[in-house]
Amino acid sequence: MILKLNFSNKRTYNSKTTVKIPFLRIKSEVAIDPVCNMKVNTDNPPGGTATFQGNAYYFCGPGCRVAFEEDPQGYISGEKSIEM
Ligand SMILES: [Zn+2]
Repeated sequence: MILKLNFSNKRTYNSKTTVKIPFLRIKSEVAIDPVCNMKVNTDNPPGGTATFQGNAYYFCGPGCRVAFEEDPQGYISGEKSIEM
């Protein structure tokens, strides 16, 4: 997802104008669960995270994380996968 932030240079000289920047705090990045290939929000992964060979992986649920930790290489290489 690409968020385009368009900050226009238009200025209003009304001191009562409130400036709202609604997207300022939104930083939702999505990772793919290597076990089931579901999209997982990296801000709050339901299954937690695991680190393998310096890379962080995010999981849709605890079951996927447990499966991954048993054989990380198998899932990363694509040899293994679980259909949910
Ligand atoms: Zn999963």
